[in-house]
Amino acid sequence: MAEYDYDVLVIGAGPGGYVAAIRAAQLGLKTACAEGRETLGGTCLNVGCIPSKAMLHASEYFDAAANGAMAKMGIKVTPELDLDTMHAQRRDAVKGLTGGIEFLFKKNKIDWIKGYASFQDAHTVKVGDKSVTAKNVVIATGSTVTPLPGIEIDNDKGVVVDSTGALELKAVPKKMVVIGGGVIGLELGSVWRRLGADVTVVEFLDQLLPGMDGEVRKESGKIFKKQGMVLKLSTKVTGAAVAGDKATVTVEPAAGGAAETLEADVVLVSIGRRANTEGLGLDKIGLELNQRGQIETDHDFATKVDGVWAIGDVIPGPMLAHKAEDEGIAVAENIAGLTGIVNHDVIPGVVYTAPEFAGVGLTEEQAKERGAIKVGKFPMLANSRAKTNHEPDGFVKIIADAETDRVLGVWCIATVAGTMIAQAAQAMEFGATSEDIAYTCHAHPTHSEAIKEAAMAVTGKPIHV
Ligand SMILES: Cc1cc2nc3c(=O)[nH]c(=O)nc-3n(C[C@H](O)[C@H](O)[C@H](O)COP(=O)(O)OP(=O)(O)OC[C@H]3O[C@@H](n4cnc5c(N)ncnc54)[C@H](O)[C@@H]3O)c2cc1C
Repeated sequence: MAEYDYDVLVIGAGPGGYVAAIRAAQLGLKTACAEGRETLGGTCLNVGCIPSKAMLHASEYFDAAANGAMAKMGIKVTPELDLDTMHAQRRDAVKGLTGGIEFLFKKNKIDWIKGYASFQDAHTVKVGDKSVTAKNVVIATGSTVTPLPGIEIDNDKGVVVDSTGALELKAVPKKMVVIGGGVIGLELGSVWRRLGADVTVVEFLDQLLPGMDGEVRKESGKIFKKQGMVLKLSTKVTGAAVAGDKATVTVEPAAGGAAETLEADVVLVSIGRRANTEGLGLDKIGLELNQRGQIETDHDFATKVDGVWAIGDVIPGPMLAHKAEDEGIAVAENIAGLTGIVNHDVIPGVVYTAPEFAGVGLTEEQAKERGAIKVGKFPMLANSRAKTNHEPDGFVKIIADAETDRVLGVWCIATVAGTMIAQAAQAMEFGATSEDIAYTCHAHPTHSEAIKEAAMAVTGKPIHV
């Protein structure tokens, strides 16, 4: 009889966990995955990446029809919003993709153990009233919304909501206050702004999009303002009171000063996410959390408890689906005795607004701290495709080592920046120089030509400016 029920038990079926489970099964390991949600796919497929992109995509069409962008191209339409249908197509996308993971589990003979898991010891996990043993346990429990002290989120009521509630609003709010000018706040704020809401974004820091390149952050402020968002930077929220179906948010300058109030029909709290470890019983296996409440691992994603591994949002690093997925593949390969590696220096990040903001590698500020650099920039205004499509906003910026010319970071603002950044990530993974990119033939006319031109600009010789 086998010593354990499974070779691998994955806890959590988000992009980290479900990918780890599939890879482990592909490698011949007997695999199960515990998931407490009704559907597989985690935050990303159920209430994150996918539903937000469904709403962003649909609202972008509405906005283009409403704001005259289509009329500019000879298409005159007066859009009428059918919010129920917009929500229905979002739910459809989620249903299709989460069902797809269930199919992949069956195909790969992975047992989905339904329920929330809790450690009994390092190799025994309780899921509901079942006890399951495994030689290896991978913690992939992801993250949840960080609450703002003193502000109560009630997604059912729909006045003070988190990102999950903001995806489900039953009507377009007249006034929306977004607390936090990060990726999620700007994406969901953009959805409702496009559909007709007056959106005010309150951000504690002096620029939007913390973590991104300084110039990109500055430019993002200009772009969102131009689109009609009101930005309250260097401002902190001190409270929110709900009366009936309205909220009053109290804010004051981050550095201190006179308070003011903002009225809103909907307040979105989007100040970040925190690792999800509650109820896992980590004390039973002697696994402690770091100061940020995350599980620490080594380079192979092994925790300090033998046989227990961790990946995705629950460990340090950017909270991104593709980072979790890559770690899922790597951890399964390491468990199988292969060499699974994730290069955490090359993880692209994208804000899926219009235009999109994307970056990979070091910001100019970080690169300067490490040594001498050269920077090449090219404006989208001078890119023939962007110009033809009436998409003038943005630029590409390439940061290279001054001595070796090796590319250290690439930042793009463009309608398709999220797609463009893939070539930059691949080039960096291969250790490319800016000259390598400059001498790579790019199809014409494409937005990606701006990456080639920015690379040419590193040595001062772009053609089209
Ligand atoms: C609104 C929004 C938009 C986003 N958009 C993007 C985007 O466009 N691109 C991007 O890269 N990232 C995006 N993200 C982030 C992305 O969703 C996460 O980085 C990603 O889902 C992390 O994957 P994970 O597998 O680590 O965890 P999760 O996806 O959080 O999955 C963890 C799963 O574990 C389950 N679980 C937790 N505890 C237990 C337990 N004890 N037992 C059993 N199951 C348990 C949970 O139910 C959950 O399903 C977005 C997030 C949000 C909220």
